[in-house]
Parts: sequence; structure tokens; C-alpha cells
Amino acid sequence: MTARFIFITGGVVSSLGKGLASASLGALLQARGYKVRLRKLDPYLNVDPGTMNPTQHGEVFVTDDGAETDLDLGHYERFTGVNARRSDSVTTGQIYSNLLTKERRGDYLGGTVQVIPHVTDLIKEFILGDTENEDFILCEIGGTVGDIEGLPFLEAIRQLGWELGRERVMYIHLTLVPYIAAAKELKTKPTQHSVKELRMIGIQPDILLCRADREIPLAERRKIALFCNIREESVIAGLDVNSIYEVPRNYSEQGFDKQVLKIFGIADETRPDLKKWDEILARVQNPRQEATIAIVGKYTGIGDAYKSLCEALDHAGIANQAKVNIRWIDAAGFENKNVEQELKDVDAVLVPGGFGERGVNGKIAAINYARTHNKPYLGICFGMQLAVIEYARNVLGIKNAASTEFSEYKTSSTDDKGSLVGLMTEWQRGNVMETRSKGSDLGGTMRLGSYECDIIAGSLAEKIYGGKHISERHRHRYEVNINYREDFEKTGMIFSGLSPKGHLPEIVELKNHHWFVGVQFHPELKSRPFAPHPLFASFVKAALAEDERQKKAA
Ligand code: GLN
Repeated sequence: MTARFIFITGGVVSSLGKGLASASLGALLQARGYKVRLRKLDPYLNVDPGTMNPTQHGEVFVTDDGAETDLDLGHYERFTGVNARRSDSVTTGQIYSNLLTKERRGDYLGGTVQVIPHVTDLIKEFILGDTENEDFILCEIGGTVGDIEGLPFLEAIRQLGWELGRERVMYIHLTLVPYIAAAKELKTKPTQHSVKELRMIGIQPDILLCRADREIPLAERRKIALFCNIREESVIAGLDVNSIYEVPRNYSEQGFDKQVLKIFGIADETRPDLKKWDEILARVQNPRQEATIAIVGKYTGIGDAYKSLCEALDHAGIANQAKVNIRWIDAAGFENKNVEQELKDVDAVLVPGGFGERGVNGKIAAINYARTHNKPYLGICFGMQLAVIEYARNVLGIKNAASTEFSEYKTSSTDDKGSLVGLMTEWQRGNVMETRSKGSDLGGTMRLGSYECDIIAGSLAEKIYGGKHISERHRHRYEVNINYREDFEKTGMIFSGLSPKGHLPEIVELKNHHWFVGVQFHPELKSRPFAPHPLFASFVKAALAEDERQKKAA
């Protein structure tokens, strides 16, 4: 194995954009023709972020192979186009969980199990495992230097520096250079302290990425280089930008990728091919149209909670060369507001994935408005389940239609079809039958990852996807009950996508509506700036058409 490893750590404060910096470096190396892979090591104790509140952690990103991971993996996929895997994300919780299983099995028989070497060995095993002839493996360490939980990870990457040799290992540290208004100066001291902290652990960074809100003058760069024991040209400024698509070019113009190769001793005089990035940026900066989409959800104050969704809408904007504005609507209590007032002038409505009862009525009110006012509607996962419930209640007259997620289901007669949305107890994945029950663990037990879906001929879904067989990523516990199919289809709501055996409804759509689609999966997880997702592209196109209609009507 000859892959080189680049470790990215962060200092001073969190939220500096380590994930984006890592993804950008991955993209730059790729643009020079190298094969890359990106990984995230998160020091928190949860086994995965699946059980964390989005307000704490942001969105949970799901991989094809069904791992619930950090949202940074989404950045990696979107910037490099390389599908992440379960083996690209690890946490302290996972490491310890493996460690304790081994200990109980007797793998360490006779020995005292310790952080060094046992925990650090497992971390190293993770870093080195499951590779495929990549030239570079970029590993981002979550948190900031100085966190207690982060220490075993830093120790493990320090050891790898020795074991693999410095020709194969590099350390990049991301810090903050704050501007102090009273002194009218950029301050380098926090960076110096952060690097000092790293060096105390035995890691000398090779490159410093310094986030700043303005140009870092040469004098300050020199100071940072001198005090941090780094070459001057290895002090790279990460300046605030308007669009994330500017980041790779900005870094490259300062010689970031060139420095990385130089430090590894790779002679490469070429320049990265950034044409596709420039093209995207040009489209983002020159929109021809605009549409406003209402997102009705529970975590509307926190952009990170719907990261991939926002990105997918941006990609759809790129596809249509249009600007997509988002109007966040807090679903909790929305049903008591004047729904008409709030939604009248938006061009489309989107209800994203969600869990639990809070906000359900607000979401249903928004869906009802979109359905009855011919506003383009996209319902994702919970947004599909609630669209089906809204339709059952208000069109089919099934007043108690609900999901067992938020309402206990009571059988009313012997030919009862069951709860409209409920827990399906088993489903097929490949050759394996997976099962779940009411009492099973909440962590990692949902229907997770990519599943095939067959699309019905002649449907809007077929037109959008341009094909009949698709594969999309899932993350949910409940399913729409197929037994109701006939009742829905008779009155105009079509089950246009089904699981291969036809048991699980995956896509629903309305026949007599401009654009109304609900999907049980999360299409946003597969959208890329260079390959906008067809569902989002089509949805935004419908929103733009609605915008035109409204303008004409006015
Ligand atoms: N809460 C729903 C379920 O578990 C939907 C989940 C989601 O929207 N991701 O089935």
C-alpha cells in the first residue's frame, strides 16, 4: 500500500469549516489527476450521530451502505464525487464498542487494556483499513485540539507519522486569525497557542490554514511561520467567501495543493484543472431567474440541520441557472397561523425528513395548502408520509389516518387495512431479511442506506428520472401501507415508485396537480454540484414556472 495520509486537525474554535477545507483539498488533488478518499474521525462518545439531535450535531448523512455519519461526509461526496462508505467514518463510541467486544471475547487475555496501545491501535487500524489504491487519504479529526476526547486520535496520528514515515504522512492544522477592531489588527496569538498545543502532543503541522475575515498581511504570515516552525509559503489564508464553490480555487491560488505535493516530495509542475468549478461558479453568480421555496420543518433556525437539502436546492439552482431562495417556516404551531398569508407568495413548498409528533399539524397544513392551491410540492420521507396522511384525511375521508409514530393505531374492523403509515416488520435487503420491532434499539435500526426502487411507466417520476430503475438512500423506521394503494389511485394519488417486490411505496404523486411528489427516500443525499439531482432540478423548474405564473397573474 502506498497511499499517502493527510491529517487535518482544527484549533482555536470550532465551526471554521474544516470539512469544507478537507473536501476542497480532496477536490484539488483530484483535479490534478490523483485518486482520493476522505475520512472523518469524530472524538465524541456516541457510536454514530444517528441518535443525536440535529440542533446538536446538524444533519445525519447516510452512506450507500447504510452508515449514519457526520455531515462532513456530505461535503466530501459533493466535492469529490466519491461515494463515502461506512469505513470512512468512526467515533470514539465505535472504537470503544469494538474494543469492549474484543475484550469480552478474550482477545486481550492476560493483558491490561489501555488507551495506548489498544485504543490507538484500533484508531490506526481504522485509518489504514479498507483502501483501494488511493493516492491520498485525507482524514479529518473532529473537534479542536485540546479537547480531552480528541487525545487518543491525535496520539494515533502522531504514531502513524513515525510508522509510515514522513514521506507518507502530513499534518494540516486549521486555525483562526481574528481581527480585533479596537487594535485594528489581525491577531496571530491564538494560532501560536494552538500549534503549541499540537506540538506538545508531538505533532508539528506542515501546513497552516488560517481562517480570517480579511487578507493576512505578509508581516503576520511571517510571524505565524516563525513562531509555528512552518515555511512561510505553507501559511495559507482561508478567507470568507460568498459561495463554497470559490473555496478550491482560492486555496489553489495560494498554492495550497502545490505545497502539499512539495512537502510529500512529489515533483508536479502542472496546475489543477478547475474548469468545472469555474463553470459552476459562473452559473451561481449569474442567475437568470429566481424562485422562493418554503421549507416547513422543525429545525428551521439551524442551517446545518438540513445541510444536504440546502445544497441539493443550490444544485437544482445551478441546473436551472436560477437563484433559489429559502423561506424557513417553523412547523410547530404553523397550523394556527394564517397559512394562506405565509404561503401565498412562495413558489413551492417542501416538507423535509423529520421525526416525532411536534410540528406534524403544521406540516400537514402546509401540504394541504400546496395540494389545494396547485403549488409545487416536494415531500421527503416524513414529508411523503404526511402528504399521504393529509390526502387520506381530506380526500379519502379517513379521518383517523395517521402514522403509528405519533398516534396509537386501533383496529376498527376485521377487514381493516392497518395504520396508514406504520412499522413494517420486515423487508428484504439483497438476500438478507432485516427485521425490526417496536422494542428494538433506536440506534442504527432504521431502514438505512441505498435501496432499489421501480418506477411505474408513464408517471411523472419516470419522466423526471428518465428511467424505471433507481436507487436512493433511506433513513426511516415507518412505511406507507401498501394496502391502501387502490383507494389512493382511484382518486388521483398514484404510487409511482415501489420497492422491487412491490411491498413498499417509495414515490407518490398527484395526477391533477402542477407538480406534487412525495418520496420515501432522501434524494438530497445523492445530489452533487456537478450532477444535480433530477428530482430537485425538476422541482425547482416547477417553482420557476409557478413564479412566472404568479407574475403574470399579478
Ligand atoms: N419519522 C419517519 C420515519 O421514521 C420519517 C423519517 C425521515 O423523515 N427521515 O419513518
